[in-house]
Amino acid sequence: MNAAEARIQGITMTALAEEFGTPLFVYDAGVLADTYRRLRRLLPETVDVFYSLKANPNISVCAFLGAQGAGAEVSSHTELVTALRAGVAPRDVIFLGPGKDVRELAACVAAGIHAVVCESLEELRQLDDLVAESGAAAPFPVLLRVNPSFGSKGSGLAMGGKPRQFGIDEEEVRRAKDTLAELRHVRVKGVHAYMGTRFLHHADVVHNTAGILAMAEELAGRLGVPLETVDFGGGLGVAYFENEEDLDLDALGAGMREVVAPFAARHPHCRLIMELGRFLTAEAGTYVVRARYVKQSRGEWFVVADGGTNHHMAAVGIGSFVKRNFPVRHLGRPSDEPDRPYTLTGPLCTPNDVVAKKVPLPEVGPGDLLGVARSGAYGPTASPGLFLSHGFPAEVLVHRGRARLIRERDTTEDMLARQRLVDLAALDAPDALDDAGAVDTPDALDDAGALDGADAP
Ligand SMILES: *Cc1c(COP(=O)(O)O)cnc(C)c1O
Repeated sequence: MNAAEARIQGITMTALAEEFGTPLFVYDAGVLADTYRRLRRLLPETVDVFYSLKANPNISVCAFLGAQGAGAEVSSHTELVTALRAGVAPRDVIFLGPGKDVRELAACVAAGIHAVVCESLEELRQLDDLVAESGAAAPFPVLLRVNPSFGSKGSGLAMGGKPRQFGIDEEEVRRAKDTLAELRHVRVKGVHAYMGTRFLHHADVVHNTAGILAMAEELAGRLGVPLETVDFGGGLGVAYFENEEDLDLDALGAGMREVVAPFAARHPHCRLIMELGRFLTAEAGTYVVRARYVKQSRGEWFVVADGGTNHHMAAVGIGSFVKRNFPVRHLGRPSDEPDRPYTLTGPLCTPNDVVAKKVPLPEVGPGDLLGVARSGAYGPTASPGLFLSHGFPAEVLVHRGRARLIRERDTTEDMLARQRLVDLAALDAPDALDDAGAVDTPDALDDAGALDGADAP
């Protein structure tokens, strides 16, 4: 065994790859806990941290963060159920999303979550009707998601000041007093805004927070609604690429205290929420692949691995013209000097399946393990796992020196289980079609076998 090989909590990556197979996502619970604690320490105590499941919806990851003290920000019925089954208390759950369906709203009401974050006046009315029909005794709490009129700099994906499908334009909220007054069964208790993602400069986050708090105060005064909760988003980034640096957390903490303290003094009972996905989970995750072939094409060295962008679409780097590489390590000898640049690709039949382009690595041979670091956020959840029917990889959580499987790898049977093989003979039989009139409804398809039989007499 190679003493220098990469480990997580003392366990070698080789051992993890042997036990769970590759490709594999490995999450270090120690890093998850540290990241949460560091954030918790720098933020004013009046701010609650909610975990955005979108970044990594694994139920054990959610449960682990919940046990550290995080609430949950969910955006689908499954994410809601995940958070609740993971043990997050309903009072620490909010549900947002621009296109909630009635079933999702009903589940929020039934669970009694902290608030639904409403993204249109139509949605407010719909929820009002739904709560009325449910016969609930008390009005249901909602936050208004506002699309602020001010913009933001420094984000990879900026919101605010632009036409968006998210939230209600600040200008429209200002005019909404009459609409809100008509609501009987929902109660607006505050404001939500999210300014974008991948912020790496503390001043931008502080600027956004100050702007949202000021906007919330102003809107609440104008609309005559209380400020019991303000969710000011977050969007904290992590450095992925060579020219990026991690946030200065001390400076962020100082800046946040400065803008939160006066607000909290004016609104001592207001619950402040910061909702974060990427920042809480990215650093803890490594995507582990095994080199299958190492080959040269016209002077460029390629490592063709068993997993690629089908599990890690974020590594493709959509939205940037020049390919930028996530940090990649040779897990067998992470500290050796680079030998040459390798382009790391996966098994997909598309030239876009490039995880990293010309990344300098120690010599790689077939069978070697490579790891893409900082991959705990927007991995499988944001990747085309169905592409070429490879399915999703296994996921493992390492905690207190023990590795536990937290998601099974998809098998061929898993991939086929939800598909239906139609009876082509039954579809083609002209008599059957005549008898049925039309075979375009699911019921008719289900009956296709029976139609076949009807031919017999
Ligand atoms: C995606 C999203 C988040 C999480 O964003 P991160 O950048 O991963 O922290 C939080 N809130 C809203 C509204 C989002 O759309």
